[in-house]
Amino acid sequence: MCGCVLGPSAQWFLRFARLSVGNMFFHVRDLGVRAGRFDVELAPGVVEFLDPKLRQKGLLKANGKVDLVTGSLGEIRVRGHLAVQMEADCDRCLEPAGFPIDSDFELYYRPVEEGYGEETAIDEGEAEMGFYEGDGIELNDVLREFVLLSLPMQRICSEVCKGICPVCGQNRNQKSCACQTNAADDRWEALKELRSGN
Ligand SMILES: [Zn+2]
Ligand SMILES: [Zn+2]
Repeated sequence: MCGCVLGPSAQWFLRFARLSVGNMFFHVRDLGVRAGRFDVELAPGVVEFLDPKLRQKGLLKANGKVDLVTGSLGEIRVRGHLAVQMEADCDRCLEPAGFPIDSDFELYYRPVEEGYGEETAIDEGEAEMGFYEGDGIELNDVLREFVLLSLPMQRICSEVCKGICPVCGQNRNQKSCACQTNAADDRWEALKELRSGN
């Protein structure tokens, strides 16, 4: 470290400050010099979830650190904390269901290069290992990935949600109906109806 004003650290700071205005980008070359940091509050819409049934309510707050895994060939590690209130349509009754996230996270990204394989090669057991193309990673992509990983497979408003009657369409959480249905099967029937209606 030379300690001079325009040394590597000052250049890094300038680059950091310029890019933090929009979607922060962490270049693997910069991460080789020193770790990057982020501390953001993002309004709904900044991180795109690409799922019309999923909505961000209020600010998404995240902070943490991005660095290279020691001894790796460009493997990037992102560690931090993320807090956001998400809302999704309940899979059973279609009413809004809240999914608060307030959690530490740790995600890893390997470069897409020979020897590492394609992104499609990720199996369920490696869900927290992603891949990046090009020179680095965009923070908003990382935040989206962690939010999606945090949501349950089945998004329901409550464990005891009774869903929609497949015969008359009544939301049975609000009012019961007199339809004859097979109690064991009707949740699946409701799902099938929803899917065939799309
Ligand atoms: Zn429900
Ligand atoms: Zn009914």
